[in-house]
Amino acid sequence: MATIGDLIKIINQEKLKVDKDLVRLAYDFAKDAHKGQVRKNGESYINHPLCTAITLAKYHLDQDTIIAGLLHDVPEDTDKSLADVKKEFGPNVAKLVEGITKLGKLKYRGIERYTENLRKMFVAMASDIRVIFIKFADRLHNLKTLDALESKKQERIARETLEIYAPIANRLGIWQLKGQLEDLSFKYLYTKDHKELKIALDKNFSERGDLLKELRLKVADMLKKEKIKIIEISGRTKDMWSLYRKLQAHNNELHRIHDIIALRIIVPEVADCYKALGVVHNKWRPITNRFKDYIAQPKPNGYQSLHTTVFCDRGKTVELQIKTLAMHQAAEYGIAAHWHYDEKGSIKLDEGLDWVQELSKWQKEIQDSKQYLDSLKIDVFQDRIFVFTPKGDVIDLPENSTPIDFAYHIHTEIGDKATTARVNNQIAALDSHLKSGDMVEIVIEKGRKGPNRDWLKFVKTRAARDKIKAGSPKGLWGTIASLRGKE
Ligand code: MN
Repeated sequence: MATIGDLIKIINQEKLKVDKDLVRLAYDFAKDAHKGQVRKNGESYINHPLCTAITLAKYHLDQDTIIAGLLHDVPEDTDKSLADVKKEFGPNVAKLVEGITKLGKLKYRGIERYTENLRKMFVAMASDIRVIFIKFADRLHNLKTLDALESKKQERIARETLEIYAPIANRLGIWQLKGQLEDLSFKYLYTKDHKELKIALDKNFSERGDLLKELRLKVADMLKKEKIKIIEISGRTKDMWSLYRKLQAHNNELHRIHDIIALRIIVPEVADCYKALGVVHNKWRPITNRFKDYIAQPKPNGYQSLHTTVFCDRGKTVELQIKTLAMHQAAEYGIAAHWHYDEKGSIKLDEGLDWVQELSKWQKEIQDSKQYLDSLKIDVFQDRIFVFTPKGDVIDLPENSTPIDFAYHIHTEIGDKATTARVNNQIAALDSHLKSGDMVEIVIEKGRKGPNRDWLKFVKTRAARDKIKAGSPKGLWGTIASLRGKE
C-alpha cells in the first residue's frame, strides 16, 4: 500500500512545482469520498488513485494533473459529483476529471467498440493530452492489480492495452511507459510464452549480470582518463514484449539477439557522445554492421542515441548505448519531457513543438476506421489478424487465416459441421482470407458427419489442421484398414 508520504516524496525528489498542501487536500477529499470502498484485491480503494497520482508525478506532470489523478474515480464511483470537484479544486482540475470519466466505461468488445474507444482517445488527446497521461497511469495500476480479476476480464484489459494504449504511448514517445504497459499485458495474454521467456532470460541475466558490472567500472575508468564527464552508466534490459516480438523474427534463438542487456552511458553533450564512442572503439573492436548513429539520423519515432556492439574482454559481446541526458529523458518521458512551466506555473510546450497540431494531423491521417486499425497495429502485430464474432468477441489468428480456421478456433463442432461462412454479412468461401476487422459468422449443417479433408490444403492454424485430421472420414484406405481390423 502506498501512502500520501510516498507521493510527496516523489514531488520533492523530482522538484515539481506543486502546492503540496493542495495535493494533501485532494488526497483527503478522495479518501473520504471512497471511504469504505474496497478493490477486488482487498486493498482499500484510495490506494488506486494514489498510485495513479504517483505515476503522474514520476512522469513530471503538473499540479492539476496530479490532483486530477487523485480524484479521477470520484464522480464515477462515489457520492461526490464533478460539481463538488469543481467547487473544491477549480475548473481546470474538474475538466481533466471530466475527460477521464468520459473515457471511462467503454469496454473493448468488437469492432464498433474498438473504433469508438479509439475515437474517444483521440478526442480526449486533442482537447487535453494530460487526460491520456491520467488514463495511462490509471491503466498501469489496474494492470499491476489484474490478478484479482477473473480471467476473461484480465484478457480484455490486457488486449485493449496492447492494441490501443501501447501504440498510442509509442506514438507519443513515452517508451518507458509503453514498455511497462506491454510487458504487463504480455503476461496475461500469452501466459505460457511469457513464463518460458522469463526463465530463459533469468538464466541469461545471471550469466551477463556480472560481466555488465565489471564493464561498467572499466568504461567509467576509461572515460575518466579522457576527461569525459559521466552523468550515469547503467545496465538496461530489453523489455520483454519487444524481445518476444524480435525473437519471433529470429527463429526464437536467444543467442542471436544482441541487445538483451546493454550498457547505457549518459554524458552531458552531443560531442561527448562521439568522444566516448571513440574511446570505447579504441579499446574494444566493434562488430561490423552493429554500429548505428541515431544521433545524426534519428529513428522515425524520434529516438536518438549511438548504438554499438563490441567484443570486450574474453571475447564477449555487449551493446553500448551512448546518449545525452536530454536524449535519455526524451526517451523516458516522451512528450512530457518537452514541456515546462511558465511564470504563472501553468504548463507550456517547448517552442517549435506545436503538439496539438501534430496530433490533429495524425488524427486526419487515420480518420477512416479501417486505417486506424492498420496504422496503429502495424508495429505491434505484424503477422496476426483480429476478427470478430457476431457477438463482438475478438479472435486473434495468424495472417491469411480462413473461415475454417476461425470456426475451429470457436469450437471443434462448428469447424466439423461448417458449410458456408458469412464475412461482414456477405457469403464468403470457406478458403477465403480473413482480414483484421472482419466480422465472421459460420453456417453449420447439423447432420453433417465430419470435416472435409480438402480443407487441409488451405487452413493456416495447427489447431484446425489437427482437428480436420482427427475428425474426417477415413477415406478408402482408412476404411479398408478398419475392415481388415475386423476380420
Ligand atoms: Mn481508475
